[in-house]
Amino acid sequence: MDKTIRDRIDIQQGDITGLAVDAIVNAANSRLLGGGGVDGAIHRAAGPELLAECRALGGCPTGEARMTKGYRLPARHVIHTVGPIYRGRPEDARLLANCYVSSLSLAAKHQLASLAFPAISCGVYGYPLADACRIAIDTTIDFLTAHPGMAQVIFILFSDNDRRVYERYLQGLPS
Ligand code: ADP
Repeated sequence: MDKTIRDRIDIQQGDITGLAVDAIVNAANSRLLGGGGVDGAIHRAAGPELLAECRALGGCPTGEARMTKGYRLPARHVIHTVGPIYRGRPEDARLLANCYVSSLSLAAKHQLASLAFPAISCGVYGYPLADACRIAIDTTIDFLTAHPGMAQVIFILFSDNDRRVYERYLQGLPS
């Protein structure tokens, strides 16, 4: 992989709600009305104004993305995307890739330069982490290659083990 692309990808372990980036991505559900996991953490940290803005959006289909303000978060915006519930079907991979493309495209459209992703669908939606990691990183590399304005994409994993899976995959890609 091109070193200039590699330098724009950062893998971290921690809580996405603490990141001061242009946008953090929320692994939301299709109603966009909050939930558990990372969705609940983002809503708690952002405050009730986030739910009010989400209500007005009227939901979001799987694979698409919608943007709101970040309110009390250090991030300026939240991009809400809806990952597939994993069932082992071929379309699961396509829908998960769509989440990354939709989120990155929305960020680029609004000229955002830094974006952070959690492991979409890898919690209660049950997507196997290693498969989801490949989709997340491959899709992002393709996007960054085509969009020089996107300066930094962070993948932030909640557990250290998950972080290592991402790091190993990225390091193993041919240069
Ligand atoms: P989904 O419904 O898309 O599976 P979840 O929120 O259940 O979404 O989980 C997605 C991933 O986000 C999981 O790997 C989970 O460990 C992780 N996660 C949960 N809370 C946070 C957080 N505060 N910051 C970053 N990642 C988180």
